[in-house]
Amino acid sequence: MITIRTRYYRIDPKVPNLTHIQEAAEILRKGGVVAFPTETVYGLGADGLNPEAVAKIFKAKGRPADNPLIMHVAQQKEIDLLAREIPPLAERMMELFWPGPLTLILPKSRCVPDIVTAGLDTVAVRMPAHPIALAFLKAARVPVAAPSANLSGRPSPTIGTHVLKDLAGKIDAVVDGGKTSVGLESTVLDLTSDPPVILRPGGVTLEQLQEVLGQVVLDPAIRGEYLIDGLVPRAPGMKYAHYAPRAKVFLVEGEPWQVALKMKELVEQHKAEGKRVGIICTEEMLFLCREMVPQPDHYETLGPGEDLGEVASRLYSALRNCDRYHLDVVFAQTFPENGIGVAIMNRLRKAASHRVIKA
Ligand code: AMP
Ligand code: MG
Repeated sequence: MITIRTRYYRIDPKVPNLTHIQEAAEILRKGGVVAFPTETVYGLGADGLNPEAVAKIFKAKGRPADNPLIMHVAQQKEIDLLAREIPPLAERMMELFWPGPLTLILPKSRCVPDIVTAGLDTVAVRMPAHPIALAFLKAARVPVAAPSANLSGRPSPTIGTHVLKDLAGKIDAVVDGGKTSVGLESTVLDLTSDPPVILRPGGVTLEQLQEVLGQVVLDPAIRGEYLIDGLVPRAPGMKYAHYAPRAKVFLVEGEPWQVALKMKELVEQHKAEGKRVGIICTEEMLFLCREMVPQPDHYETLGPGEDLGEVASRLYSALRNCDRYHLDVVFAQTFPENGIGVAIMNRLRKAASHRVIKA
């Protein structure tokens, strides 16, 4: 692949440099691909109405063509152009949750190129809650098609350096706005079925959606049930092995002290085989594991276990660090599946290709 020059803009989200944002938006308007921060993860954006520009996203990421993108907007009225019809429920969800980490699936209009939706009759739309993202989208003056700004299959980027590591030389520009706050992707909610279905858990929780919608269904693929039942997930992106470091990841499930004992046994066994071993855990689990002999080669801590928001925001960096420390095998603890815990466990299961060890 030919290397292209990647422009780099470091922008302070508290006092965004509008000249730089304008420059980056200009690159996008001319058909370029630009990575930008959102509150969830970094997105890789292109003019969503220009199929040639959108094709560059798929090429840079190595993304399969059957995995559709999300259209990002700065104003709710832009959805009139993208959706064939906006049910009253969709209006209500936009009012309550936008800007924010909720993507809505709506019937697509003819304006949306097929490459964006991978040929589906529906379109995914979102308004991100990040000052730089909103300023950038406003300056772009077009809906911006964007998936996460990582190489396909790798953990999504939560800092600008992650984007550079995966895509420098392959994209036209990176807008670096520091660490993203949520750290996991948006919740994808399909409003074309009744009751609405969560196709991907994310920043907006099942509990928050239930409060507004009453009935809402979790796609069985989210808990990996399609592997058992032969079901195909309805968000095409959910079927790919994903979010994975190069190391082989295993989840270790059970009561904390049992998990710590199991980790000890696993570390001993794999170190004896000459492997480089890592552990991904909370601060409390680190405390339980600290006395074990031999010690693993590396720990990635995700903060205190009671703060699932913090765990979510640190998860992708932790998974990426497994590569930085050249680990061969990684053992990660599990988390309760409430609130953002549903999204954390969904990503962990995928990173581990559903390998779970019971402690
Ligand atoms: P990414 O932004 O990289 O997380 O990718 C966007 C996610 O949204 C992928 O999981 C897609 O499969 C999903 N998605 C986008 N458009 C649609 C759609 N029309 N129907 C269902 N899922 C979609
Ligand atoms: Mg992605």
